[in-house]
Amino acid sequence: MVTAAPLIAGIEIGGTKCICILARSPEEIVEQVRLDTRDPATTLGEVDAVFDRWHRDHGFASIGIGSFGPLELNRASPDFGTIVSTPKPGWSDTPIASRFEHFGVPIALDTDVVGAARAEQRWGAARGMTDLAYITVGTGVGVGALVGDRPILGRGNAEMGHMRVSRLPGDDWPGVCRFHGDCVEGLACGGAIAARHGPGPIAADWPGWAPVENALAMLVHNLVVTLQPQQILIGGGVASSQEGLIDAVRRRAVESLAGYYTARDLPDDFVIAPGLGTQAGPLGAIALGLCALQR
Ligand code: ADP
Ligand code: ZN
Repeated sequence: MVTAAPLIAGIEIGGTKCICILARSPEEIVEQVRLDTRDPATTLGEVDAVFDRWHRDHGFASIGIGSFGPLELNRASPDFGTIVSTPKPGWSDTPIASRFEHFGVPIALDTDVVGAARAEQRWGAARGMTDLAYITVGTGVGVGALVGDRPILGRGNAEMGHMRVSRLPGDDWPGVCRFHGDCVEGLACGGAIAARHGPGPIAADWPGWAPVENALAMLVHNLVVTLQPQQILIGGGVASSQEGLIDAVRRRAVESLAGYYTARDLPDDFVIAPGLGTQAGPLGAIALGLCALQR
């Protein structure tokens, strides 16, 4: 196929893995490299080597970076493009965007989940929508929301995975968030599930899934009443591997919303898996890189 789409270098920085991707679109991926997320010097050094090679062998028109946060995204700040105060050991105050400036191409940086939302909007299950939320359930719980086609950005990026939600009756398990204990991330991230379950494989019918489903359903309820999204996508390592989780979350959210007006016109499938599957995150970096060219 002859194509005019520009070649973009992207990176999705996750708490467990970093994915470098060189692509024009979901159908035109030149190369994709998965790296384990270790300390910043090691991991970003490995990323540098991949990007240097791509720059030499292919060139690229822009760079898109989707990262776990919190991130400093205000361009007026001297710390623009830095990961700030993250619970992830060793990664607080790590400059990200400035590391790639020497390539001399436009750079877009946003959260991994805003990137994934942009990819779903461009190529996936939310095509053409201006109001949507992408939830990741993996190392952490993150939400990337577009409202009126713009990501939420106040003093900093929104961290909606840290909302507090009502618990299942009788459930007082403390949760694992270092800051809040039983916020949504503290109850539903991969580490929370592992801590609550203990060692060994987790059965699909483990009773501990119910509080995970509940926490995510309450998050969905809160997103519906605050953002009025047309579509909510749930991705990430936990959601993509636990069959039935997304359906259970949607059922619980519908029950909780109880026909309230924000929920009235929502289609039955308003909470689904990403159309791009596990590629939503990596392609999010490409979508951000394309946004950088349009700025
Ligand atoms: P990242 O957060 O780096 O983007 P993932 O979204 O793949 O990576 O999430 C990885 C996390 O998800 C790890 O903590 C892993 O243990 C957890 N995880 C993946 N699948 C499951 C599952 N079926 N049950 C519980 N935890 C899971
Ligand atoms: Zn928290």
